[in-house]
Amino acid sequence: MDVVLFGPPGAGKGTQSKFLMTRLGVPQISTGDMMRAERKSGSELGQRFDSFMSKGLLVPDELVLELLAKRLDDADAAGGAIFDGFPRTVPQAIALDAILAKRGRKIDRVLALEVPESVIVDRISGRRTCQDCGQAYHVRYNPPPSTGRCTQCDSDRIVQRSDDKEETVRTRNGAYLKDTLPILDHYRANAGVVVSLDGTGAVEEVTKRLENALEGRTQ
Ligand code: ADP
Ligand code: AMP
Repeated sequence: MDVVLFGPPGAGKGTQSKFLMTRLGVPQISTGDMMRAERKSGSELGQRFDSFMSKGLLVPDELVLELLAKRLDDADAAGGAIFDGFPRTVPQAIALDAILAKRGRKIDRVLALEVPESVIVDRISGRRTCQDCGQAYHVRYNPPPSTGRCTQCDSDRIVQRSDDKEETVRTRNGAYLKDTLPILDHYRANAGVVVSLDGTGAVEEVTKRLENALEGRTQ
């Protein structure tokens, strides 16, 4: 099954992807995580990503699509994927349709998390991220362990993402509204694919709503 987990920056996509991976038995593909890994490697490509990411701007489609197409060739993604933070533009969505069609696949569901701006601000300002594995924490709702070590990979590098600063977040939200939100209309051309759900409340409550959406039950 191929699922797009959709929502504004800070909506809880990465957090909920963990549940979806277990539920669907397919990997999470987060282009943001992949780009941060490339950036960390210090490669020239990583530096190109950083020149956009550090300003809160979207990375150009052709760079993102190259990365994505390669990732879909990996064996673990042969039976489907959870796309997190991708596609981010209508051309990316159209390209993804073509990439999947070549493999006899299509996007089966777009699960759109709806979260008001005040909640987003609260979530992003309190987000802390493991620099080594990408695990997200929140200073109040899911605090990092008192040892300071990541529960997933034992790294001691749990930091605030540089693009989670207020000004950069504003730019990222602008990009979301202008370039990413119109993607929903692209997917709405296929009846029943887009399921919008309330992304507020505790992590477990949102997980339950996602579960219902996958089962086809109404919220
Ligand atoms: P995204 O991947 O959509 O950018 P994240 O999954 O990283 O969002 O979540 C953003 C922040 O909000 C993180 O700090 C995360 O721990 C926190 N968070 C996610 N879901 C919830 C929730 N339901 N309630 C409270 N905090 C949450
Ligand atoms: P995220 O981890 O999804 O919040 O993404 C962090 C940053 O990575 C974004 O602000 C963009 O600069 C870049 N990025 C991630 N995914 C994409 C994408 N699909 N298209 C363009 N830029 C992206």
